[in-house]
Formats: sequence, structure tokens, C-alpha cells
Amino acid sequence: MGSLQTDALDFVNADGFQVNPLDPEEFRRQGHMVIDYLADYYRDIHKYPVRSQVNPGYLRKRLPSAAPNDPEPIEAILGDITHDILPGITHWMSPNYFAYFPASGSTAGFLGEMLSTGFNVVGFNWMSSPAATELESIVMDWLANMLKLPECFLFSGGGGGVLQGTTCEAILCTLTAARDRVLNRIGREQIGKLVVYGSDQTHCALQKAAQIAGIFPVNFRAVATTREDAFALNPAALRDVVAADVARGLVPFFVCPTIGTTSSTAVDPVKGICAVAKEYNMWVHIDAAYAGSACICPEFRHVIDGVEMADSFSFNAHKWFFNNLDCCCLWVKEPSALVKALSTSPEYLRNKATESKQVVDYKDWQIALSRRFRSLKLWLVLRSYGVANLRNFLRGHVKMAKHFEGLVAADGRFEVVVPRTFAMVCFRLLPPKPEESGKANELNQRLMEAVNASGQAYMTHAVVGGVYMIRFAVGATLTEERHVTKTWHLVQKQAGEVLASRT
Ligand SMILES: *Cc1c(COP(=O)(O)O)cnc(C)c1O
Repeated sequence: MGSLQTDALDFVNADGFQVNPLDPEEFRRQGHMVIDYLADYYRDIHKYPVRSQVNPGYLRKRLPSAAPNDPEPIEAILGDITHDILPGITHWMSPNYFAYFPASGSTAGFLGEMLSTGFNVVGFNWMSSPAATELESIVMDWLANMLKLPECFLFSGGGGGVLQGTTCEAILCTLTAARDRVLNRIGREQIGKLVVYGSDQTHCALQKAAQIAGIFPVNFRAVATTREDAFALNPAALRDVVAADVARGLVPFFVCPTIGTTSSTAVDPVKGICAVAKEYNMWVHIDAAYAGSACICPEFRHVIDGVEMADSFSFNAHKWFFNNLDCCCLWVKEPSALVKALSTSPEYLRNKATESKQVVDYKDWQIALSRRFRSLKLWLVLRSYGVANLRNFLRGHVKMAKHFEGLVAADGRFEVVVPRTFAMVCFRLLPPKPEESGKANELNQRLMEAVNASGQAYMTHAVVGGVYMIRFAVGATLTEERHVTKTWHLVQKQAGEVLASRT
């Protein structure tokens, strides 16, 4: 394992192996190698097929059947990463990545993650690393102000923000808080009456959370959306479903509007939904996983108008906000509701700071006990780029999506299926003859597969209102307009071939 320093000889055992796994000089040497490796990776990333082209089980064929008994050098391991791991990687950081919602990694996001991993603190309560808790509260207030969230979500206004790993966790935590708030009032045995609401476009995270929190599966409502409403949750339709449940003796308690749905970036009307929720005393959680970041731009802030009426709000900073995975920002109006549902205080965690009640113990705001120092990453991103630049990055993505939308609209063989709101365009190829309209979905499936199999770009699909559409999501950090234009030419070329070969 590299050349041993003489002062490291204390760490050499009888077999001659270096046994201290955190030798500072080896850390420096290997760390630099990995940074160089990644810098080359980002420089050359456009050369790799965007979507991994391997078959299931490919890796087991290549790797030994057991871990090595003796140490292996980092050089050999990095070589195997190139030969064995890279082919099985789908390159989310590629400039030609337009699938799902892209993951916008960045230098600052990476460095923040590296520092956090390096310190490796387990900041479950204030005492376990005061900076981890205090920095988190501060950056969450900064970010709340950038999003123009009302004072009630800030620590100074009695609310507060917390970093979760993912939106799934944020929804589960808030849903659990809401569940206990209502059950403490009506009795634990009433759990079978509690009903959760979303739309048929709501992320499956809501259903999963309801399932984990013990809500009866029959009491999960996915209110139907329509093309006329651009697939947004209609408050009147919600009220009808809620009223019918109340008439049957059920207890509505949680509704989750989405800002930027996963299939088509639809925006559920927050004000109208909150008004219904207020009538029926429900907890409103706003899931802005993808589009929340856009609200730092004044021209997009209106999509969360009415947020002051909601109980909680979350967005994924690892989705469209230049933080490397994972980083979900959650704000709640009433932290005590979370704490009541999620706190534990075993003897071995007792300490003066907690007892003074002057500190936040974030372990009581989340599912797990252990927690990472994630705020370091967010802090580096906010400081390294600044608010003005972050807005420019997002606007740049929106502009590129607009550009793509224009290209689609200019080619009569295609249509834009739903109006674009943020940086994603939903489009499809139209069957040339009216009598072929039943084949539209299959045609687009074949088109998308042809594009992805080429390795030159990657996009994924959604089906809304029975229509199969291709989602072109701009947001990968390295993407420039030339990548968008080139990808459109690829789509046109593949479309020509798919159309020519249809039967
Ligand atoms: C991506 C996404 C989620 C899931 O996010 P995780 O962080 O993976 O849990 C939930 N809701 C919406 C609207 C999303 O776009």
C-alpha cells in the first residue's frame, strides 16, 4: 500500500501490513489521486454512453467471488473502477443527461460533502457537534429567506428547517407528526379512520409514507386529474372526495400538493388546496422536490403563493440546486409536532444542553438517530455561488428547455404534450396518418429506446392521461445549449428511422 513512512512503522503488524487506516500522509496521497481521477472523469464524461449499456449480472462475472485477504493498492482499485465499474455507471453528471430529474452536482456540493465526510461527525443532538446543528439552523433560515417563505417557517418565527436525506423521509416525518397530532385528539384506536390525499400525479413517496405510518391502504386517495387542469390537483375535486369521506365517518388529516409533479411538472394550486384543508383541519405538506429551487427567482415565486397556509414545505437541494446527493430541505411551522412524534430520550444521550431546552436536537426531527453534517454542503453551495449566480444557473436551464421546446414546435412531426413551466419539456412524435393514432404510444416508446440505446443522450418517459410522452429534463450541471441542440438533431434522426421502419 504505497511506501511506508518511518514514523508509521508503529502501525505495521507482524505480516508487514500497514494497519492504521487513517494515516494522514496516505490520506493526502490517495485523496489527491481520487480528486485527479474525478477531475479527468468530468473532463471526459461526454465520451461515455450516457445510459449504461451493460446487462443484468454483468459485474458478478468480472469480480472475484470473495474480498481480498491482503491489502491491494489504490492504483489497482482505481484501475478496476475504470474497467469494471464505469461501464455499469449511468452518467448522471453527463451534459447529455436529460432523464428523470437530473442531479445537479457541483464543485461546491462535492467539496462540502468531502468536508462533511472528512469530519465524519454523527450530529444527532447539539452536544454531539454543536456546529453541525447550529450551521443547519442558520442555512435553513438563509434558504427560507431566499425562497421568501413566511416568517412562521423560520426559527425566529417559531418554526424551523431541517435537512433530511430525501423527500420520502420528509413526507414520512411530517405525515407521522400529523397522524399523532390528530390521534392524540381523537384517540389512538381511531387510526383506521385517518385518510391521506394526493392526486393521481403525486409522487409515490406519499403512498409509501402512508403505508409505513400505518394508514389503512383503503384510506389513501389519489384524486383524479385532467388534461383541462394541466394535470394539477383541482381543489373542488379534492373537496368532493374529502366531503364524501367525512360523510362516511372517516377523518381526513393530510394532503400533499406538489409543485412540479414528477411526470409533467404540474403545479397544484396551493391556495385552493389549503382552503379545503383548513375547512377540514388537515395538515398540508407541500412537496416541491424538483421545482422548489426555482422559487429563489422572483418570476417563479408565485407557484408557492399561499405557502403561509401550509404546515410544512420541502424541496430537494440535490435535485435542482447544485448539492450532491443527498440533501432534502424541510421546513415546518410547528416543530413540536415533529418532536412529539419522533423524539426519544434514552439515558445515554442525556446532557445539560438538551435539558436547558436552549438547543435543537435534530434527532427528534427525523427518523434515524445518526445524522450527517449535511449543512456544510449547502453552506458551501450558497457561499461559493451566491444567490445571484444560483438564479442565473436555474434561468440558464429554463432557457435551454425553452430552446428545446421551440425546436420541437418547429417540427410538424412532433407535439409538445403539456405546457412547459420549468426546465422540462414533455413531447412526443405524432403518427403521420390519423388511422395510426392508436400506435402513438408504441412509436414513442421505440423512439426513446433508439435515442437511449445510441448512448449519446438519455431521457425517460411518463404516461399522463393515457398519453406516453418523452420527458426532456434540463438540469445536469455540465449541459450547455449546444448539447441540447445536438440532442434534438439526434431525436430527429432517430424519429426518421422509427417512422420509416413502422409497419
Ligand atoms: C424526486 C421526487 C420525489 C422523491 O424524492 P426522494 O428525495 O428521492 O425521496 C418526491 N416528490 C417529487 C415531486 C419528486 O420529483
